[in-house]
Amino acid sequence: MNYNQRNPIFSFRLSDYRKSKLDKLAKLDKTSANEVARKIIDKYLANELVEKTEDLDKEMLKLRIEKLKNEIEYQKLKIIYMKNFDKPMSASATRIIKPQIITTENTTAQIMSPYDAKNNRIQCVDCGSLFHWKNRDEFLQQKYEFELHMTNKHNRAMTYLEKTVLTDLSFSGAST
Ligand SMILES: [Zn+2]
Repeated sequence: MNYNQRNPIFSFRLSDYRKSKLDKLAKLDKTSANEVARKIIDKYLANELVEKTEDLDKEMLKLRIEKLKNEIEYQKLKIIYMKNFDKPMSASATRIIKPQIITTENTTAQIMSPYDAKNNRIQCVDCGSLFHWKNRDEFLQQKYEFELHMTNKHNRAMTYLEKTVLTDLSFSGAST
């Protein structure tokens, strides 16, 4: 095995956005972007880098489970009431119990992120419409389109979650 066989050269393309990130890291490390990329791959293959877990997805799942639990609890209470008093729960009793339960319309939009991290795109949780982009300009345009879509198609404002997700979402390359 000669030197070239032991140390093969790799060549691949990265988006401009990723390249500028590498450049920044390289500057901090006083090395080249190429060297930073090599180190990252090296670390990953040595199991010193772990793949990022989807924190947001996990959080959403927790919320969804919490909501289901609350709903089951609520249904149970209604059944117990019905059994004990032989009539449905009164409107006033319902009002007291309900605040503990998430009952607002469109609960999906409140617990589901519209950002599809896997494909780097936005998906409307109400109708499944997709918003993807090829570059930064389109990305900004699509974020705006999504907001318009909510107003025009679903006649509602964005939920707190949707707003937060979109605000925090920064351009990280083209959708796949
Ligand atoms: Zn929609």
